[in-house]
Amino acid sequence: MRFGTRLLHNGNEVDPHTGAASIPLYQASTYHQFDLDHPGAFDYARSGNPTRQALEQTIAALEEGERGLAFASGMAAISTVFLLFSSGDHLVVSKDLYGGTFRMLTEVLPRLGIEATFVDTTDLTQVETAIRPHTRALYVETPSNPTLKVTDLAGVAAIAKQYGLLTIVDNTFMTPYLQQPLTLGADIVVHSATKFISGHSDVVSGLVAVKDPVLGDRLAGLQNAFGAVLGVNDSWLTLRGLKTLKARLDASSASAARLARGLKEIPGIERVYYTGLPEHEGHELQNAQAKGHGAVLSFDTGSADRAKAVCDHVRLPIVAVSLGAVESILSYPAKMSHAAMPREERLQRGVTDGLLRLSVGLEDPDDLLNDLEQAIRARRLVSVNTEWRASIV
Ligand SMILES: *Cc1c(COP(=O)(O)O)cnc(C)c1O
Repeated sequence: MRFGTRLLHNGNEVDPHTGAASIPLYQASTYHQFDLDHPGAFDYARSGNPTRQALEQTIAALEEGERGLAFASGMAAISTVFLLFSSGDHLVVSKDLYGGTFRMLTEVLPRLGIEATFVDTTDLTQVETAIRPHTRALYVETPSNPTLKVTDLAGVAAIAKQYGLLTIVDNTFMTPYLQQPLTLGADIVVHSATKFISGHSDVVSGLVAVKDPVLGDRLAGLQNAFGAVLGVNDSWLTLRGLKTLKARLDASSASAARLARGLKEIPGIERVYYTGLPEHEGHELQNAQAKGHGAVLSFDTGSADRAKAVCDHVRLPIVAVSLGAVESILSYPAKMSHAAMPREERLQRGVTDGLLRLSVGLEDPDDLLNDLEQAIRARRLVSVNTEWRASIV
């Protein structure tokens, strides 16, 4: 069966106890044991809950894995995966990394004796060179945020296998619909399901999927030990969001492609980053390892003033952190996701003062393009008039 069908028919869509067409909210923290000698499938809801389990089995199926786990947030999922490592262990990590993951790796894990080296993972030589005797894993995000650099997943996984390391992939931007890292050799996939998987800006949620059942058991043990499980209501919302993933991403990706082409033509926009554009340096690789280019693009307005003016004048996208929702979301990385990064380092990564990131939602793409155009035009006319007024006094 194709992915779109499997989203709705994967064996976890009907409640086995009642036949309910939507998995009920099993709002219970503990379970009566009918026979102490033969314990039931569930005993305590941190360890397992039927609503959460339906979601966990669904993400495992969609990622072509054996085991799925649901967490209270993307960061809870990622942090629990990091608990696989011990003092003295070392990780090689993508330089272009989600801010929360960067904070965990630079502020928390070093206190526990776990170190990370950050490299440009689009260059496999850098990945291999950074491996040390105590390196345990390679951790990558592709396409990266916000300039959408593409890392060769099969290439990274092959290096990992050669050195006996785990490959961990943050698949938030692509979702299992567009990219399936486990099929390319990765061991662990992590998600902020807050984004495209849930899709409606109404839940914070995290998911993990793995292929190896032994690794799955270890992670399930850590999930139970650390306890950052996804609550029942949020499990239900995530399951509900997942059902429309393909329909939403098909529409949003098509709009993103249209906007990327349209934005290039607007005077005042200096550069557009979208892997679907043939001139993007990761275009070919993205075509080879993913089924699409997703719904996130970035564009450079040239200066902080212009970026701010666009945020002030847009009427359709909300101006916010986060991405992957039915409504379009415009973010200003220099002041949001990358605010904590020193300016020089930020500029080195292409995160200039004028860069804006757009997560394209389900609005009509022509309306979105017109809206961005008027926001950029408004700014340009203001500055032209300011110059004119300065010239007459
Ligand atoms: C949002 C995000 C996270 C963190 O997820 P939360 O659900 O906010 O904890 C991790 N990785 C990426 C790529 C993200 O966009």
